[in-house]
Amino acid sequence: LVSIRGLCKSFGDVPVLHEVGLAVQRGQVVTIIGPSGSGKTTLLRCINLLETYDAGSITIDGVEVGYRDEGNRRVRRSERELAPIRAETGMVFQMFNLFPHLSALQNVMLGLVKVRRMPRPQAEALAAGWLERVGLGDRLRHLPSQLSGGQQQRVGIARAVAMAPKLLLLDEITSALDPSLVDEVLAVVRTLAEEGRTMILVTHEMAFARNVSDRIVRMAQGRIVADGPPASV
Ligand code: ATP
Repeated sequence: LVSIRGLCKSFGDVPVLHEVGLAVQRGQVVTIIGPSGSGKTTLLRCINLLETYDAGSITIDGVEVGYRDEGNRRVRRSERELAPIRAETGMVFQMFNLFPHLSALQNVMLGLVKVRRMPRPQAEALAAGWLERVGLGDRLRHLPSQLSGGQQQRVGIARAVAMAPKLLLLDEITSALDPSLVDEVLAVVRTLAEEGRTMILVTHEMAFARNVSDRIVRMAQGRIVADGPPASV
């Protein structure tokens, strides 16, 4: 499903990703580990096109995400072209990134209406269904500020999966949570993994990673230094 080859990315003249290569099959769960600053978040942000990349390629289902070919030139895609491609990957963030003035239900509906162009009643039913699935059926009208961190993060997950992305990217989604709230969020992720969703996650929860991942990839200084089954990495 995902093929990354020779990916390079610098911020100014500071290189952050060097020749990164990674392939993820449909239905696989791949966890990225590595020290702070090794480039894990930047790699996820490149896949989701929140960052541009300088060289190499990222394809999802064979489509180069960041660039298109024009004759024999590679041209960076415009924001308009990026929107539908970006919708193929759902991202969940460490700091939840919910819209504070919108209810849980409205947060989940927004992308369905604006990006997927779904009629509101249908979007509302789908969003409510996903919020129920993550255990928030009785919190639809709550604002993020009226929810616990674990609940907010479950809204974040519902918002990402409701869009039916081909790929889910989860970036340290439990790092900002009180330890007592981590399990409720990981339980949702485990269910998604068991359903066969394709996921790339960055996490420091090693026991969890070992448990749900098909593969673990270790990064150091912008490079992938190990890639294999949990037992070997
Ligand atoms: P952590 O585990 O702490 O989240 P990470 O492995 O996810 O770390 P990244 O966030 O990808 O690491 O950062 C990789 C490097 O890129 C770091 O040295 C960081 O300072 C740098 N970096 C990240 N974002 C930017 C930016 N927008 N501008 C400049 N440098 C950046």
